[in-house]
Amino acid sequence: MAKCKRCGRKGLFLKLNSDGLCSSCSTIVAEDKRLVEAEQLENVLPELQPLPHTSVIKYNDFDINKAPNI
Ligand SMILES: [Zn+2]
Repeated sequence: MAKCKRCGRKGLFLKLNSDGLCSSCSTIVAEDKRLVEAEQLENVLPELQPLPHTSVIKYNDFDINKAPNI
C-alpha cells in the first residue's frame, strides 16, 4: 500500500511521486522550495545591483542634455 512520507496518508489508489509524496504534499513542497529560492534571490540581488535605479536615470538624462551641444 502506498503511503505518503510527509502527511502519512495511505491508500490503495494513492499516487506518490518519485520522492514518496502524495500529490497535495508534492505541491506544497514545491511551493515551499520556490518561496525559499525567492527569498534567497532577494538576499542576493541587492549585492549584484549596487547602483540604485535613480542613478541610471540621471546618467541617461545627462547624456541626452549633453548631446545637442556637440
Ligand atoms: Zn502527503
